Amino acid sequence: MSAMTKHRTHTDEFADIREGVRALCAKFPGEYWRTLDRERAYPTEFVNALTEAGYLAALIPEEFGGSGLSISAAAAILEEVHASGCNGAACHAQMYTMGTILRHGNDTQKAAYLPSIASGDLRLQAFGVTEPTSGTDTLSLRTTARREGNHYVINGQKIWTSRAEHSDLMLLLARTTPREKVTKRTDGLSVFLVDMRLAQGTSMSITPIRTMMNHATTQIFFDDLRVPAENLIGEEGKGFRYILSGMNAERILIAAECIGDAKWFIDKATRYAKERVLFDRPIGQNQGVQFPIARAYAQMRAAELMVHEAARKYEAGEDIGPEANMAKLLAADASWAAADMCVQTYGGFGFAEEYDVERKFRETRLYQVAPISTNMILSYLAEHVLGLPRSY
Ligand SMILES: Cc1cc2nc3c(=O)[nH]c(=O)nc-3n(C[C@H](O)[C@H](O)[C@H](O)COP(=O)(O)OP(=O)(O)OC[C@H]3O[C@@H](n4cnc5c(N)ncnc54)[C@H](O)[C@@H]3O)c2cc1C
Repeated sequence: MSAMTKHRTHTDEFADIREGVRALCAKFPGEYWRTLDRERAYPTEFVNALTEAGYLAALIPEEFGGSGLSISAAAAILEEVHASGCNGAACHAQMYTMGTILRHGNDTQKAAYLPSIASGDLRLQAFGVTEPTSGTDTLSLRTTARREGNHYVINGQKIWTSRAEHSDLMLLLARTTPREKVTKRTDGLSVFLVDMRLAQGTSMSITPIRTMMNHATTQIFFDDLRVPAENLIGEEGKGFRYILSGMNAERILIAAECIGDAKWFIDKATRYAKERVLFDRPIGQNQGVQFPIARAYAQMRAAELMVHEAARKYEAGEDIGPEANMAKLLAADASWAAADMCVQTYGGFGFAEEYDVERKFRETRLYQVAPISTNMILSYLAEHVLGLPRSY
C-alpha cells in the first residue's frame, strides 16, 4: 500500500464509494488515456462504465431514479476518478448540469427529463454560457432568444461548449430582453433546455476546437433555432441567477477533481523518488527532491479541507459563495503546484508520454481558467468578502 493510498483510506467516510470507483478506474489505465489523447477521441467506454455503475446519477434524488447522494459523496467520486489517473471532464457535467432543472424546472420538466438523465438514456452534459466576444463578462452575451408564438427563436454563437457532440441536451443561456430595457442589470437572460438531436445540422452547427489536452470542446452557431416555449426553465429573464445558483456545486466538484489530480501527482512523484537511483541512492533521499513533494502534499491537504468545508456548508443549506470559490482556487493551485513538482521529480521522463505525467500536467492546467478563471475568484473575494471597491 503506497503512502497516498493509506492517506486516502484513513480519513474517509466514503470508503466504499471510493473503493468502487477505484476498481472501475483500474480498467482504464494510462495506455487507454494516452491513446485517446493522441487521437483526441472521446472516452466512450469509460463514460459508459461510470454511467452504468450509477456514479453520474449520484446527485439526482431517488424519486427521479438517481441515488440521491450528497455533494460530498459526488465530490469523492470525482476526486477518486482523478486520483486514479482518469479524467472526469468528459462527463462530470452529466452529474450537475441537471441541477438547474431540479432547482428551477417545473414538475413536468423534472418528470420528463430527470429519470432519463439518471439512467443515462439522455445526456445533459453541454452547458452553453461562454461566447467569443463576451467571455467572462456573461451579462454582455449576445445570443438572443426571441419569442414567436409557442417557440423561442435563438440566434448567436457560443464557444467552449464542451461535450456538445456527446450530449443530447444543452442548457443554454440567451438574452430575452435587450440590456438597455432591463431595470436590474442581471435581468433579461433566460435559460433553455435545447434538444440538440432535433437541431443539429439545420439551425445549429457544432465545430470541435482542438486544445492542448483531450477535451471534447466546441463552438456552436445558432441560426433561427426554434426551441419550444415549454423548454424555458423557470421564469423568463431570471436565467442569470439560475446559472449562478448552480455554480457553487460545480466549483466544489471541480475542486474535488483538482484534489484528485494533486493526489495522483504526489503519489506518482513519491513512488518515483523512492525508485529512481542516482549517485548510489534514491533521488528521494535528497531533501532538494523531498521538500517540493512534502510542500505539495501540505498544500493539497489544506485545499482539501476547504473543499470539505464548502461541501459541508452546501449540505447544511448555508451560503457558500466564499467557500466554494476558495475551494476551487486553492484546489486548482494545489493541483497545478503538484503537477509542476511531479514533472521536476521525473526530470526528463516527466516529458515522456509513457509516464502520463505530461498528459495530466496539461489536463490540470485547465482549472486555472475554467470553469472560472482564478482572477474572477480573487475579484469575488476582494469585493464580496473583504469589501474592497468593485473593480468591474
Ligand atoms: C477547455 C475549456 C472548456 C470549457 N468549457 C466550457 C463549457 O462547457 N461551457 C461554457 O460556457 N464555457 C466553457 N469554458 C469557458 C471558460 O469558462 C472560460 O474560458 C473562462 O471562464 C474564461 O473566459 P474567457 O476564456 O472568455 O477569458 P476572458 O474573459 O477573455 O478573459 C481573459 C483573461 O483575462 C482575465 N480577466 C478578464 N476580465 C478581468 C477583470 N475584470 N479583472 C481581472 N482579470 C480579468 C481572465 O481572468 C482571463 O485570465 C471552457 C473553456 C475551456 C478552455
